[in-house]
Amino acid sequence: MEEQKTYGFLNNFIYALNIARKSNLKLLVVILIKPVANIVCKLLWSYAPKFVLSYIENNLTIDKIIFNIIVICLIGLVFDIISTTSNNAFEYEYRLTEGYLEKLRMDKLFRTDFKNMESPDFLDYAQRAKTALYRGNGFFGVLYESRNFIAQGTLMIVSAALIGIQNFIIMIIFIIISFSIAKILAYFTKLDKEGFSDAMAPTWRKMTYLESITKNFDYAKDIRLFNMSKIFRRELGDVNDTYNAMNKIHHNRWILCNVSMEAILLIQKVLMYTWLVYNVIVGNYQISDFVLYVGLVTTFHDSVGYVNWIYSNMRGNCLMINDYRNFVAWEEQKEIASANEGHITNINLDQFEFKFENVSFKYPGHDNYVLKNVNLTINGGTKLAVVGVNGAGKTTFIKLIMKLYEPNEGRILLNGVDIKEYNREEYFKLFSPVFQNVECFAMPVYQNISFAEEKNTDMDKVNAVLEQSGLKEKIGSYEKGIHTNLLKIFDKEGIDLSGGEKQRLAMARALYKDGRVVILDEPTAALDALAEDRMYREFERMIQGKTAVFISHRLGSTRFCDKIVMFEDGTVVEEGTHDELMAKNGKYAYMFQIQSQYYEEKKSDSKGGKDDEK
Ligand code: ADP
Repeated sequence: MEEQKTYGFLNNFIYALNIARKSNLKLLVVILIKPVANIVCKLLWSYAPKFVLSYIENNLTIDKIIFNIIVICLIGLVFDIISTTSNNAFEYEYRLTEGYLEKLRMDKLFRTDFKNMESPDFLDYAQRAKTALYRGNGFFGVLYESRNFIAQGTLMIVSAALIGIQNFIIMIIFIIISFSIAKILAYFTKLDKEGFSDAMAPTWRKMTYLESITKNFDYAKDIRLFNMSKIFRRELGDVNDTYNAMNKIHHNRWILCNVSMEAILLIQKVLMYTWLVYNVIVGNYQISDFVLYVGLVTTFHDSVGYVNWIYSNMRGNCLMINDYRNFVAWEEQKEIASANEGHITNINLDQFEFKFENVSFKYPGHDNYVLKNVNLTINGGTKLAVVGVNGAGKTTFIKLIMKLYEPNEGRILLNGVDIKEYNREEYFKLFSPVFQNVECFAMPVYQNISFAEEKNTDMDKVNAVLEQSGLKEKIGSYEKGIHTNLLKIFDKEGIDLSGGEKQRLAMARALYKDGRVVILDEPTAALDALAEDRMYREFERMIQGKTAVFISHRLGSTRFCDKIVMFEDGTVVEEGTHDELMAKNGKYAYMFQIQSQYYEEKKSDSKGGKDDEK
């Protein structure tokens, strides 16, 4: 796990204010206006009874008293309106900040190292970062509460100072009591963050996953036919049980916290009134002073409660902000560790020659090496076929070429330069991949191919690649053509593609991207024999003059490749042309013969079938 940073409360608070400033300055203004208005109002209403009583004590005329009361009320009204207006403006202005934060989070998810996407630590942080963006939580919580925090904090200090002028010792006692309350709350907040929010993150992730499965049409068939609902129900039941158990502890924890806090606040209240009543009895205070101090005492008492409560809330939310910061900074930390990575941004090459030098690799979190000491050169313009049984390491090999993972040992060179040196985004641009598992996105067909907005999409090229990949007729049969949406998530008229059609779509994407290096990973697994044959001819055209790597189970299909490497158990066991490997009569030749027999048998079977039909 990457090392995570813990920032203090104040640091996170300032970070949140800074985000507000950067994303929408108006939000910061709205945040700062409300406390000013609240402080004025609160002090005004604390002093108002004293003023009115002192007008009576000083025998002012009734007209003057009424006039003064109206002035006081008008001032109060103006500040009240300012406070309410800024309050209403908060949610509206926050929307921009919310969008800004969500964009940073999504950018991280889209651009992070591929390996992070299968790291449970990273995914937990991604979930926590999302939690920091829920309304009421994290940033929203801190910014929303910061207005009350500033207002109540100032009121607490001002009222304590005004009380301190009268009796210093009483003030000190109150401050000590306030601090002990703050400590209790801080303790419970931390306990709850670790014992509930953090501990629940994996459970939330599981819940989100299970929920996404139930809604995903792609899984619907298997779930029904394999009667998987039972196992999912049990999983959901377990998740719910965990949630209920943790929630009970979470609930009881807060009850205990509130009871202890209320008990201390009660002691504080009793102490304050005893002090005030005593001073009136011994004649130190007039009735108007008594009323003023009751106001100040109430203000102090309330503001201590508020400040502590808001602080504890904000502390929890600040810890979420801390998680968010760690999440969006995840890769920066890694980049510091290998400062040299990815500095070459201009990959202007004519030929693409890849060289594996003693490359070994194991997946993060696994002990077994999946590739072991691989040495291999793919000369510029070569079409390399990679063959081998399932699990031999073929896909892993191309993931390494494409820089989706880094070797644990050895180096991969592109034209003599370690691919580590290339900037990742620029490096990705080199490749046109066609994978066996193809994902459709809930976007129009053209966007599923160009991955760009309409204005940046070359529609003629989209039509051309649809033709080349054999999808033109299918897409053309829909009224909206290439503007038809895929999937029904946003559009009830959206379409679903079959496995074979998805592979054609993948080919269309690769053709549109027109990368200099073509990677084909079992690109025809879902196609029928005729379509497969046609696709191979298209591939041949597609990879003319390019460097290409082609993974296939069907050994006969590698005929358009210049060289074949055979993987077994993570190592290269044979290497050469088809003829060379056949002449060698080794593992490749054996596998080829077995497959040929199988196809021969299939061919004669299907002939027999046809005869029967006749
Ligand atoms: P092939 O493409 O030849 O079928 P792969 O390269 O996909 O083989 O897999 C090689 C080995 O690596 C297999 O044992 C597989 O289980 C393992 N493997 C593949 N992907 C992962 C992963 N993301 N995490 C852990 N192990 C993996």
